[in-house]
Amino acid sequence: MEDFLEQSTRLMHQAAEIGKINPDVVELLSAPARATSFRIPLKMDDGSSRVFDAHRVCHTDALGPTRDGTRISPDLNLDECKALALVMSIKHAAGRIPAGGGKGGIAADPGKLSKHEFERLCRAYIRYLRPSGPDCDVPGADVGTDMQSMAWMLDEYEQITGHHSPVAVNDKPPILGGTLGGYEATGLGVFEVFQAAAEQIDFKLEGARVAIQGFGQVGSVAAQAFQKAGCKVIAIREIDSGVYAEEGLDIDELLKHREKEGSLENFPNTQPITNEELFACDCDVLVPAALQGVITKEIAEKVKARILVEAANAPTTLEADELLLNRGVTIVPDVLANAGSVHLCQMERTQGLADDYWGAETISEQRRQRLVHSYQQAAECAERHQLKSVRLGAWINALKRIEEAVIARGWC
Ligand code: NAD
Repeated sequence: MEDFLEQSTRLMHQAAEIGKINPDVVELLSAPARATSFRIPLKMDDGSSRVFDAHRVCHTDALGPTRDGTRISPDLNLDECKALALVMSIKHAAGRIPAGGGKGGIAADPGKLSKHEFERLCRAYIRYLRPSGPDCDVPGADVGTDMQSMAWMLDEYEQITGHHSPVAVNDKPPILGGTLGGYEATGLGVFEVFQAAAEQIDFKLEGARVAIQGFGQVGSVAAQAFQKAGCKVIAIREIDSGVYAEEGLDIDELLKHREKEGSLENFPNTQPITNEELFACDCDVLVPAALQGVITKEIAEKVKARILVEAANAPTTLEADELLLNRGVTIVPDVLANAGSVHLCQMERTQGLADDYWGAETISEQRRQRLVHSYQQAAECAERHQLKSVRLGAWINALKRIEEAVIARGWC
């Protein structure tokens, strides 16, 4: 089976062929501009020493500095960072954001480190990476990192350089020059892009049955937004538990229940549900908001939903994607559906550079407008090329913008 990097690269070649992208540009984008791997020695609380593998990949800086993504997870490897950096380049370009794709991180399990060990590891990542600053490469948060991690990384960067430079790191807290709206940007964006897609196919939101895999930062905020819009969220599955209710779940109550009980289990008036059952359940909208590669061809054969909204990165394999499109399922692809956070990072940078900070309403409205516009442009591109796949529309638009920048710079 193809891995994530092979699938993303194949998708790029497919889009490049349809979009008639200059072959020299495609060759340039087939591998990252820069990829670095390094080792971080760390003194543990008990006095022992450990060494952690770390990486940073900058896919292309044709449109602007590479940005985003510092993942801390046990199995992280260089190929995963390369695939994610390519996807970030596409996500930025599809959203008309003047940035390239960056992704990196550390192979470590944050849950197995003490708070102090974790802080020292985040700070050491910046010392050993030696990022070249806000005009070159800007790390942001990803799985395993949050606002606090990014605050430590920014502080470390500023300690080293001796300059205050809030735009050197993204996803930092507002008090250090970050932006409002960080926690909810992706989850609300998922709903907003879904809404734009639903309008295009005259899909009625009121009473629509929604099933969501993942109830973390993205899945829980999206679930609240679906419910607020009149949809019925009938199923939610997390890593260790899942619940189904024919008449719809009360999302706020479910969040309170998990807070108190530590899992979704035994939420009143619900039945347990597994991941497989959730994917095959009788819903109108399916939202994978947890892991990549979960909707395989075998799973896709059982999907009953009319709309698939990819909140997670690359949750659908290319084979499953083709099968679902042929069955008439509308797929709202990851590079558009979960782009709320990249638009927010762009606003974070704009505010930081201008030293002028915006209110929550301005940020919310800007995010919605940018996301909806990107979706409409990708859908138009797909239509122009007589494609069912809005994903290919987004990738073609993105590659065309990167191509224009590469040619203008005289690189090809
Ligand atoms: P999170 O860690 O807050 O939540 C992850 C959720 O997935 C949890 O509810 C967890 O229980 C669930 N999960 C994990 N393994 C599972 C399994 N085997 N079966 C079912 N559920 C499982 O993460 P998040 O920030 O909500 O991100 C979710 C996805 O969205 C990730 O793929 C991430 O890369 C992607 N994404 C996140 C953002 C963002 O801004 N947070 C932006 C773009 C993409």
